[in-house]
Amino acid sequence: MALVVQKYGGSSVSDARSIKRVAKRIAEARRAGNDVVVVVSAMGDTTDELLDLAADISPRPPQREMDILLTAGERISMSLLAMAIDKLGVKAKSFTGQQAGLLTDAVHGKARIVDVVPHRIRQTLEKGQVAIVAGFQGVNRGNNDVTTLGRGGSDTTAVALAAGLDADVCEIYTDVDGIFTADPRIAPGARKIDKVTYEEMLELAASGAKVLALRAVEYARRYGVPVHVRSSFSGKPGTLVKGTHGDLIDPNASSEEQEEAPMEDPIISGVAHDRSEAKITIVGVPDTLGQAARIFEVVAAAGTNIDMIVQNVSAADTGRTDISFTLPHADVRSTTAALNAVKSELKFLDLQIDDEIGKVSLVGAGMKSHPGISARLFGALRDAGINIEMISTSEIRISVVTRADSLDDAVRAIHTAFELDSDEGEAVVYAGTGR
Ligand code: ADP
Ligand code: ASP
Ligand code: MG
Repeated sequence: MALVVQKYGGSSVSDARSIKRVAKRIAEARRAGNDVVVVVSAMGDTTDELLDLAADISPRPPQREMDILLTAGERISMSLLAMAIDKLGVKAKSFTGQQAGLLTDAVHGKARIVDVVPHRIRQTLEKGQVAIVAGFQGVNRGNNDVTTLGRGGSDTTAVALAAGLDADVCEIYTDVDGIFTADPRIAPGARKIDKVTYEEMLELAASGAKVLALRAVEYARRYGVPVHVRSSFSGKPGTLVKGTHGDLIDPNASSEEQEEAPMEDPIISGVAHDRSEAKITIVGVPDTLGQAARIFEVVAAAGTNIDMIVQNVSAADTGRTDISFTLPHADVRSTTAALNAVKSELKFLDLQIDDEIGKVSLVGAGMKSHPGISARLFGALRDAGINIEMISTSEIRISVVTRADSLDDAVRAIHTAFELDSDEGEAVVYAGTGR
């Protein structure tokens, strides 16, 4: 008998019919003799709708109240799902994040899990019942206030519970057949990947592939939780996220063979895109020692996670330079305010905000040992008539900023240039709005 944690995303439980369909799958897993813990997201686009509703009430709602509001979405789906399972003759009980023992720090809106104490979940399993847990939420260990884990956080709840319960597997059920070489909504020719390492999935998730939340992948790697991403709409085998690049090496092979082995792995894992960022340009920064340090101290103090940074050498006659950086849309307002507050100290001339950018990234553990990858990527964008605005690279990733309205074309152009298109027909997207 296995202990399985299954997570169903919002698109898999968007209406009563879907909830009943998912309940059947859960009841089957239980009847097959497994201990089953289910993590569920809010129905359909509920979280976005609650966010819109709050924005209609106040431009800056108190974060504590925001978290109480958003956790309501998962309370609706968890109780309805428990009812649907009960109706099939299998006992099920639903729990909030707090009841399930998900303890977090105090950061509303993007709290980190600090401990998992799932006593009530264990008791429920011991009674032979299915435990349903509301995703994306926990409780501040310091003051018992409800917190949320950030968008897509139900994936993190599932992985954390799988680690805390020492589950055999963590299954993430969604509206596509697994992890693809690009978002199938944008690149219908995307190919399904059978297995991907934690490192590659980390880069894909960090670059915007929202099929798995970044924190969930970080957690899975740290605790060695195998994650199985698959569709709740089909019986297809999905994608397994586990292991590291080094696992591909056979320990019994000769040293030459060990050197060679990873080269047989695909050079490229996939293309990811991200629309969640904006660009701020600080115009006319005096080119003197310590300016960048001071600017990014101010940005960090505002709690902003920056991504790419570009600074040019100053034009000799002005002694001034421009610094651009990208950041989440959600942080633009607070970051601009923080920078404007020190405008006279930093003596820059102007701040420009660009909301219309997109980022496309090519990810692959094998690319570091293959020359010419960048040239091929830039060539693909040139041939598609797409201008490059910013570039950044890591050992296993190249990212490029383009105009937002060119982003979809950029994804397809790069995907095709690296011969990632499938020869098995178009990828299926079963549901969801992609919001
Ligand atoms: P859920 O509601 O199940 O949490 P999400 O919308 O968060 O679903 O994630 C699934 C979506 O992720 C897919 O519908 C797809 O559009 C998108 N996606 C982005 N990149 C990828 C990728 N590389 N492989 C598969 N899906 C991807
Ligand atoms: N409902 C939350 C969101 O939409 C959490 C999740 O779905 O994972 O972000
Ligand atoms: Mg999700």
